[in-house]
Amino acid sequence: MKVLKFGGTSIGSASRMKKVARLIASGDKDIVVLSALSGTTNTLVEISDYLYKKNPDGANEIINQLENTYFEYINELYSSDTYKNEAKEMLISHFDYIRSYTKDLFTLFEEKVILAQGELLSTAMMDLYLREVGVRSCLIPALEYMRTDKNAEPDPVYIKEKLLLQLEKYPDIDVFITQGYICRNAYGEIDNLLRGGSDYSASLIGAAVNAKEIQIWTDIDGMHNNDPRIVSNTSPVRNLQFEEAAELAYFGAKILHPTCILPAKLNNIPVRLLNTMLPDAPGTLISNQMEKGKIKAVAAKDGIFAIKIKSGRMLLAHGFLRKVFEIFESYQTPIDMVTTSEVGVSVTIDKVKHLQEIVDDLKKFGTVTVDNDMTIICVVGDLDPANLGFSAKAIDALKDIPVRMISYGGSKYNISFLVKTEDKKRALQALSDNLFS
Ligand code: ADP
Ligand code: ASP
Ligand code: MG
Repeated sequence: MKVLKFGGTSIGSASRMKKVARLIASGDKDIVVLSALSGTTNTLVEISDYLYKKNPDGANEIINQLENTYFEYINELYSSDTYKNEAKEMLISHFDYIRSYTKDLFTLFEEKVILAQGELLSTAMMDLYLREVGVRSCLIPALEYMRTDKNAEPDPVYIKEKLLLQLEKYPDIDVFITQGYICRNAYGEIDNLLRGGSDYSASLIGAAVNAKEIQIWTDIDGMHNNDPRIVSNTSPVRNLQFEEAAELAYFGAKILHPTCILPAKLNNIPVRLLNTMLPDAPGTLISNQMEKGKIKAVAAKDGIFAIKIKSGRMLLAHGFLRKVFEIFESYQTPIDMVTTSEVGVSVTIDKVKHLQEIVDDLKKFGTVTVDNDMTIICVVGDLDPANLGFSAKAIDALKDIPVRMISYGGSKYNISFLVKTEDKKRALQALSDNLFS
């Protein structure tokens, strides 16, 4: 059994959904995970925003517009009036349900129910379409098996038990369809795995059923060696090791949600990144195989704050770093990069909710400066120190760019640079030119 996840753009139009249906109908008895149609979750966020601001008219206007785009979509998707009517009824019930939330108090709880509608709609539409074209499909509700615990982390034991129970119910079907992104939390309320979280759903499902492979189908032919939205002449990377993929996803390669690698890695299930528009392209295979002696790709993460703490007292002082890190821990703020010298330490964070409190507390230990609008650039590959000259090549590429921090040696897979966001494009292009051309 395989798990195939299709992102929003892969089903962004009726013709694309038909294409996906052809792809999944020709496979084995696989599990297909769908995101919401592209743009839908953003629109649901916008609707919620109006409701938080107590503007039901603003919300209703967007709900009506969104509903109309879905009516047009189903008109093109289904051929027969029977299926068009069934789909229309289904849409109306979901949109009326969304409208019912414009009348009362609106909290985080209601928002999560609204955000869940995108995946509920796309999967119901696909299931209906497969039935129209004669494929025996079955809709497995994610809200019946996908669950997070009290720490908002997925609960793999519960997920496995409940998912297997669902699958066993339908021995005679061709394909299972289920929702990405949505789940229930430890209190049984509707919740989600955060934006872009359908990749995570796919990998949790893959782990639960011990899938042969997890396939992430999107709008590009695999992980490229640099961000194709920013740099020209990028090309797909054929093979990545789990750690390399995790570094790239965490440091900004949007094609993959960073959380999605761990369940696959722990269960040694290969992840394949594929292009829905070019299904025969080889894409990228992520596995535990390391290709020796190769720098693979570059990624960038914006919105970074660099905090420097300078202290005369650091000289020979044991316990200094612990005290600094404890402050970040007490405000539940993860640190990305760290560099140290005898007189100071620099760290980067991207969660800045408690920045002011953190800075206030750090001032007890030294002089604190903060730089905002920074970007981490991460070069990933076989960066084992034995590969002489690899790190020098990356550093040399950035010789004309002011680099605020460099982090190397934390793992043998990466070297990270902190630059100003205004220098990001130049830095990414220079790295591509130096490392891959
Ligand atoms: P989906 O809707 O299928 O989840 P996403 O938009 O989340 O798709 O991810 C695919 C997009 O990721 C691509 O269209 C591409 O612009 C972007 N992207 C960013 N960095 C990379 C990279 N290194 N390789 C491939 N795609 C990347
Ligand atoms: N639909 C959700 C989002 O847009 C989840 C996903 O696409 O992965 O974030
Ligand atoms: Mg995505």
